[in-house]
Amino acid sequence: MEKKAKLTFLGTGTSQGVPMIGCGCEVCRSTDSRDKRLRASVLVEYEGLTILVDAGPDFRQQMLAAGVSHVDAILLTHNHKDHTGGLDDIRAFNYHEKTATHIYCEQYVEDSLRMEYSYAFAEKKYPGAPEWTVHIIDDKPFCINGVEIIPIRGRHYKLPVLGFRFGNIAYCTDMNHIPEEEFTKLEGLDHFIINTVRRGHHISHFGLEGALKVAERVGAKHSWLTHLSHQLPCHEELSAELPENIRPAYDGHILQP
Ligand SMILES: [Zn+2]
Ligand SMILES: [Zn+2]
Ligand SMILES: [Zn+2]
Repeated sequence: MEKKAKLTFLGTGTSQGVPMIGCGCEVCRSTDSRDKRLRASVLVEYEGLTILVDAGPDFRQQMLAAGVSHVDAILLTHNHKDHTGGLDDIRAFNYHEKTATHIYCEQYVEDSLRMEYSYAFAEKKYPGAPEWTVHIIDDKPFCINGVEIIPIRGRHYKLPVLGFRFGNIAYCTDMNHIPEEEFTKLEGLDHFIINTVRRGHHISHFGLEGALKVAERVGAKHSWLTHLSHQLPCHEELSAELPENIRPAYDGHILQP
């Protein structure tokens, strides 16, 4: 039987978030809470594990909003700041749990972390610096405490990124291409989450039309759009124009097992 995951959208916004600083457009001025989008991140509860995917600049706020007091692992999709910029705040988990936090990422992502957070990798660390243990993964399935997670290879312009499948749910952010051979990993899903930032062409993300095409091909029971920018219509207006089983995700929305 298919194993079921629970997923909470902690952030569904593009790299600048919505509203964007200094913007007075209709979407940025919207009073609908679903149009307030923090940087993209999800919390997954799966087979007894609590897993965070990405820890961008809104990480602290997202942990507080969702009442998270423990994570078994943080999976990083790629090395962009809107997905890694909040990692210093894992110090709270270090403090409560008196242990390092487990981070899973590709080798080039760890290389970036070593530059961006050099103080956390220093031989003689300043007391109180973040404590993490990095586990290097690639596009092959891997296990955390015996629970299998399936990475999905995607391309984000020229950058290789990873999406992740947890049983009946797959999360694919920050990509504009999924190689042909990866689609077999996306068969039989209840929920498929795919990124888009705006209509038309974008150099490193699926445009809305492209995202819908991929969602249709994957054929999950439900598909959800994330990493949305203020260049797309307000949540309500965008929802109304989409096929019935495809919806924009919004911050705080939960996909129940
Ligand atoms: Zn991003
Ligand atoms: Zn705006
Ligand atoms: Zn990115």
